[in-house]
Amino acid sequence: MKEAEKIWMNGKFVDWKDANIHVLSHVVHYGSGFFEGIRFYKTKNGSAIFRLKEHIDRLYDSAKIYRTEIPYSKAEFSEAMIETLKINKLESAYIRPLIYRGYSEMGVNPKTCPVDSMIAAWEWGAYLGEEALESGVSVKISSWRRLAPDTMPTMAKASGNYLSSQLIKMEALEDGYDEGIALDYSGYVSEGSGENLFIIKDNIIYTPAMNGSALPGITRDSIIKIAKDFGYEIKETGIPREMLYIADELFFTGTAAEVTPVSSVDKIKIGSGKRGPITEKIQKRFFEIVKGEVEDKYGWLTEVK
Ligand code: PMP
Repeated sequence: MKEAEKIWMNGKFVDWKDANIHVLSHVVHYGSGFFEGIRFYKTKNGSAIFRLKEHIDRLYDSAKIYRTEIPYSKAEFSEAMIETLKINKLESAYIRPLIYRGYSEMGVNPKTCPVDSMIAAWEWGAYLGEEALESGVSVKISSWRRLAPDTMPTMAKASGNYLSSQLIKMEALEDGYDEGIALDYSGYVSEGSGENLFIIKDNIIYTPAMNGSALPGITRDSIIKIAKDFGYEIKETGIPREMLYIADELFFTGTAAEVTPVSSVDKIKIGSGKRGPITEKIQKRFFEIVKGEVEDKYGWLTEVK
């Protein structure tokens, strides 16, 4: 990873190498962290954070689900994020804020441990590779299911949830694929290990509904708005596995993955096996927006001077 200079920890900037926590911190043992991944893009007129408000809202929602009070207002925390970009003199970056239960008592109850916070930012390119944005990625359906709704809340972007994602990702890589897609508890398509999924069939765009144990992705929401503006019909619904095989086009969305086409599922070629025309159109508009090449008509960019 491309290290930056400073990391914000509990209100102070510390050197990158000194941003450490105690090994007996609650989060290390019990997964009690809530985080975000946010992109800071270089635009035509300076640099801007993409959908800062929505990411901050989801961070506070994740903490709320786990009865955790973040000791900063949303405005203060947003400002700390901006300061982190400035102090590191970044022009583009991936921003990673984390709220976590720190060090005090040992035991499952998180309430005995302090609520600590950190914000790091560094330069990070295309998550699934620059080439994948055009040629697409190979995917397998994971043997691991996503979390059932009454087990762990998937609307929270919580550190512990990523054990599920790690199993999906490792299995896919071990088996020679770029990424895995998990089904939900009832056997419908849920999401990738760190991406939401869109399916195009006969000019209609489908994506798993929010009862499919997927994270409510902010890129997902952006793509739904962009596609609707292009006049496409969007259906948020249950998606059977085989619908992926017979799709005309498939693509992943995520802050890290941005808009990445899927070229095959379980070694079955999707459409032409390359980025499809609707994917390309939506992907192009997404990049035009984040790079400030078209008007920010949705108000998604927060400029950082
Ligand atoms: N699902 C999971 C499991 C993720 O980790 C992510 C990445 N945050 C997403 C979906 C996509 O969400 P977003 O577009 O908000 O980054």
